[in-house]
Amino acid sequence: MATLGETICPYCGVGCRLRLEGTAEHVSRIRGVESAAANLGRICAKGAQLGPTIRTPDRLTTPLFRLGRQDSFRSADWGTSLAYIAEIFTNILHAHGPDALAFYGSGQLDTEAAYLVTKLFKGYLGCNNTDSNSRLCMAAAVAGYRTSLGSDGPPCCYDDIDVADVILVIGSNMAEAHPVTFDRIRAAKKARPDLRIIVLDPRRTETARDADLYLALAPGSDIALLTALGRILLLMGAADEPFITDHTSGFEAYRQFLMAQDLGELCAATGLQEAQLDRLARIIAGAKGFLSFYCMGLNQSTVGMWKNNSLINLHLLTGQIGTPGAGPFSLTGQPNAMGGREAGLLSHQLPGYRTVEDAEHRRQIEEFWGRRPGAIQPGIGLTAVEMFRALEKGQLKAIWIAATNPAVSLPDLHHIHRALARARLVVVQDAYHPTETTRLADVILPAAQWGEKEWTSTNSERTIGFSPKLFEPPGQALPDWEIMARFATTLGLKGFDYQSRDQVWDEFIQLTAGRPCDMSGVTSARLRQLDSLQWPCPAPDHPGTKRRYLDKSFPTPDGRARFIVCENREPRELPDHEFPYVLTTGRLYAHWHTLTRTAKADKLVKSEPGPFIEVNPDDAKRLEVAAGDLVQVSSRRGTVQLPVRISQGVTPGMVFVPFHWGDLFGQGNAANYLTISAIGRVAKQPELKFCAVNLEKVPKARERASAERARAMGAPRSCAPAVGHS
Ligand code: SF4
Repeated sequence: MATLGETICPYCGVGCRLRLEGTAEHVSRIRGVESAAANLGRICAKGAQLGPTIRTPDRLTTPLFRLGRQDSFRSADWGTSLAYIAEIFTNILHAHGPDALAFYGSGQLDTEAAYLVTKLFKGYLGCNNTDSNSRLCMAAAVAGYRTSLGSDGPPCCYDDIDVADVILVIGSNMAEAHPVTFDRIRAAKKARPDLRIIVLDPRRTETARDADLYLALAPGSDIALLTALGRILLLMGAADEPFITDHTSGFEAYRQFLMAQDLGELCAATGLQEAQLDRLARIIAGAKGFLSFYCMGLNQSTVGMWKNNSLINLHLLTGQIGTPGAGPFSLTGQPNAMGGREAGLLSHQLPGYRTVEDAEHRRQIEEFWGRRPGAIQPGIGLTAVEMFRALEKGQLKAIWIAATNPAVSLPDLHHIHRALARARLVVVQDAYHPTETTRLADVILPAAQWGEKEWTSTNSERTIGFSPKLFEPPGQALPDWEIMARFATTLGLKGFDYQSRDQVWDEFIQLTAGRPCDMSGVTSARLRQLDSLQWPCPAPDHPGTKRRYLDKSFPTPDGRARFIVCENREPRELPDHEFPYVLTTGRLYAHWHTLTRTAKADKLVKSEPGPFIEVNPDDAKRLEVAAGDLVQVSSRRGTVQLPVRISQGVTPGMVFVPFHWGDLFGQGNAANYLTISAIGRVAKQPELKFCAVNLEKVPKARERASAERARAMGAPRSCAPAVGHS
């Protein structure tokens, strides 16, 4: 069978390069590319099952619009659709100003599209309300890196796995969410049995099964744990004093903070014994290369930034950063969460890791784009959750949503529905319809997806990967960057007349020159030859940079990394007599995000056909429920019904629900109808890992009625619907 070509996988941030065989209509085989540094030939089930997601009956082939939410969608051409949006945008701009508009994008948007969104909204419309679903997974990591090290972007690379002798995985179920990178850890362990793998997670996940040491800390107690570890390491003399003296600031305040802590209280907060933490600290203290991986478990918290800072503090304390095999390695959830950050898509950002608050940064960007001084607003725009709050209040009038499905992925979904219902205009740009979000739109724009366009992304280890076009998009579908460029032109704006993706990319990288994420040497011509390069890469003959901070110089004003004192804080909503259980949400190996693609692959669906709730056996006994029984799960925001999986993986008092399934599989029954929309003060990341819920057994009669209702509704896609809701 003929080779179709190579592409970066459009799912997670590992960034595997895949080789496809067959045709777009029938992909016969997908394999990992051996020479690709991200995956070295490996692939997971999601990547291997991309074939059935390409040509599906629900692919969008033309723009669709309707004049009222009760109306049916009608097909339109691009000119009519963009002119319609432009007219409403212009009216809103005149009547309410730029702050009444917003763009909510995604870590699935390629860098070219993210750059043009930033340019259009922040540079030309004067609107800083651009954000992305990276806010739901990575914002705390961005803020953590910036405050501790002076710059976003991980210091490490995947090759560090082969050099480290202690790998800590905290707040990440890598085995399911970043499986190829975790397979590399497994392989390293096999080759070097002395490698110590430590997993810290409230839930005994697939990742924990491979650990030499697994500790089930209490949900939400990460800061207490990391602070306790800092204190023990300090007292056992594990501080790297030369490194601390020469390359850090804030140590004395951190030392005093640690010494003032009551270890017994910290241990009590974590639910762990002092001896367990002592053992863990000894392993870290003895490490030659201490590498930590972390993800949503640290980030999805109202104190997610402090959790990141607390972990980085340990690396600074032990001098385990800026050397091969060491450092804090934030895993990115999406294929281009990193690229969106580099292009300035988050509401505080400008291209090249600049910020809107910095007057010099604004001036540089305004000058480059040929905008008048003051064209870019100095205030941070609305973030994801804030956008929907502002929509509900009527402050925001129009929102453009691209490559994401907030009607499943955002917390407190009843609120999201109310918010979108109040909007004057909801534009949704996607490859598929219906999704839970396109159903709520006024205008739907058809996007070309991964194999149907040339696109660029940056993976978790800062590798910029170029993916060529492998086959034609369906109908009138266009690359996201081209949709943005056409819309800007429809608005009558100059500076968006790009003829190719190369032009967009080559313009963007100029704005990274001299910046921490310098990719000015990664020209389009070079990318087409090499496929990928790791930033910083400041010149066309530069080979790229595997590891940052090898010179121990950090991009802070004094060149030093910062210790940051982080007080332990409890989650925003604690269990009580009404809602006595802690709900934590997460992902499964077989599925990705809101099932827009993975629900189309029968093999993946067979392995995980529907939603469920994991309940500890003791709680199941108390509730008198057996495996498969339906329980009603209620929080202060909503109620859903889910079948029970009994699992020792969750501790008594804690339950786990995967967040993948939305309304298309059981109206009103998604995990995020329960979750809380509380956000952190700086990172503004919602607390998706912790809220209080109550569980009640659903009597059999109601269970039957619910099942019949669900059957009558019919399953819209191949995944099994959750049984009913209330
Ligand atoms: Fe795709 Fe991630 Fe699986 Fe690699 S590990 S094939 S990037 S989903």
